[in-house]
Amino acid sequence: MTGRVVLTIVLGILFLVDARPLPAGPEPAKKLRVVTSLQDLAAIAREIGGEYVEVFSIAKGYQDPHFVDPKPSFMIKLQKADMFIKAGLGLEIGWVPPLLDGARNPNILPGSRGYVDASKNVPLLEVPTGDPATLRAQGDIHPYGNPHYWLDPLRGKIIAENIFEGLARLMPGKKEALRRNLDRFKKTIDAKVARWVKMIAPYKGRNVIAFHNSWPYFEQRFGINIVAFIEPKPGIPPTPKHLVKVIHVMKERHVKVIIISPYFSKKSAELLASKTGASVVELAPSVGAFPEVQTYTDLFDFNLSRLVKAFRGG
Ligand SMILES: [Zn+2]
Repeated sequence: MTGRVVLTIVLGILFLVDARPLPAGPEPAKKLRVVTSLQDLAAIAREIGGEYVEVFSIAKGYQDPHFVDPKPSFMIKLQKADMFIKAGLGLEIGWVPPLLDGARNPNILPGSRGYVDASKNVPLLEVPTGDPATLRAQGDIHPYGNPHYWLDPLRGKIIAENIFEGLARLMPGKKEALRRNLDRFKKTIDAKVARWVKMIAPYKGRNVIAFHNSWPYFEQRFGINIVAFIEPKPGIPPTPKHLVKVIHVMKERHVKVIIISPYFSKKSAELLASKTGASVVELAPSVGAFPEVQTYTDLFDFNLSRLVKAFRGG
């Protein structure tokens, strides 16, 4: 052994002996702060972000997502957020812009790295031909097409991809882990969709009516047939004249189920039920609408079992 090698070994040992012990445990990793407009988006963000994210939803699932009070406490949440995810298509037009203005956080504004519009690449239904601004001025609250697209679980996979992209942009080092979560989420959805479709198959084509036009994506995926709405136009409360028309349609089309959401008054629905013998079924328009709907798959487990029960007459 040469003197130089011996010296290197000795120095190496000295260095090892001298090395200071590492702190007792690794520092807890800072979680990415994600704020979403809706609980559905929050539920999916938790599936994809897993342990790396801390998620807060502004609207709760039992609130009408078109009309949410832009409280100052939400501005504070947005001010501290690393990422903001919204449904888009004008759904949150009355409350997200004032919240973003108040939050003064350039990192989550449209076009910035921390901003995700979950509707990107989602195939839309009911896109009107008219100018959205004019339609909106006329009171139409779906001027860019129907914004309730998260009620189709296959579109939920596209939402998940958009959220994955946003998270991976902010946490490039975690990209592989995030991708594994995305793949797992998509596989779960595919397996569940097959089961859900089978569950509802015996009732394919059944005519129903709904309070608000929240359900076209759900309707298409699961093969039910919505023939009228209690609202004459989305966001416009029913008039007696309109309800008479709806009763007529219900009788003609043998409608036995009326779908409503927890934030709408049951009065008109109950009146229609009493005139036609139909039953009123409260479905969850979002995660969080009912205590038992906590995850994105809960949303469909809940809605399909309620609907099947109603069709069976139970
Ligand atoms: Zn709507």
